[in-house]
Amino acid sequence: MTNKYMYFIANWKMFGGLNSLNSLRKVTKFYKKFQKNRYAKIIYCPPSTLIRPMFKKLANSRIDVGGQNCHQNLSYGAFTGSVNPLMLKSVGAKYVIIGHSENRMSGETDKLINLKIKNSIKSGLKVIFCIGETYKDKKKKITKKVLSSQIKSGLKNIKNKKDIIIAYEPVWSIGTGLIPKTNELSETVKFIKRINKKLKVLYGGSVNPKNIEILKSINNIDGFLIGGASQDSKKFIDIIKKTYN
Ligand code: PEP
Repeated sequence: MTNKYMYFIANWKMFGGLNSLNSLRKVTKFYKKFQKNRYAKIIYCPPSTLIRPMFKKLANSRIDVGGQNCHQNLSYGAFTGSVNPLMLKSVGAKYVIIGHSENRMSGETDKLINLKIKNSIKSGLKVIFCIGETYKDKKKKITKKVLSSQIKSGLKNIKNKKDIIIAYEPVWSIGTGLIPKTNELSETVKFIKRINKKLKVLYGGSVNPKNIEILKSINNIDGFLIGGASQDSKKFIDIIKKTYN
């Protein structure tokens, strides 16, 4: 059975210009009616350039905005191309994605991820903390070992985890059209929740309006992190609607 309170987080990655914001009208219109008797929480994580205009566009919609990553420092500094958590907050972000595999692949370590999480929380942001095994890990049957190590390191010395949401995203399923088998995904969600009962656990990786029919049946899943399909408002709305049908 679908949980009452579900997250639908849109990760736009490095896509979108100001004109992409026009497509949000469809979503805000839909959400206005839909949210009345459901607890679907929508969060958009656009590229940094769009956080402020999107925040303005979504005013009064109860849809939140988040960043896709941030620098670990809380103070300003000579870090070309970076933005820190406080800067994200100042332009309207309430959330930030940390530890996405696309960033882990370009060198982010567990230690750095831990620092980013700590300082994002200090700044008052909520964190969407991504974890996931590679295809090689899966083949070697070390998924649980990898996940528990990522969780342990990422959350090291963080006592209050109420502002952290886990997004389980198998690396091999991101942008590939592949999703885990239902029994495997159920088992993984259960495993993560066993590590920390209070953590919300989302699934991410090739979620679309077709496979949502399968994915929504995963016991105790708290929502979805959606990449490609979230850039198409119709598909995004379909995913949300079908989750509750
Ligand atoms: C992601 O990058 O977080 C993601 C889930 O991407 P996609 O849905 O495109 O696989």
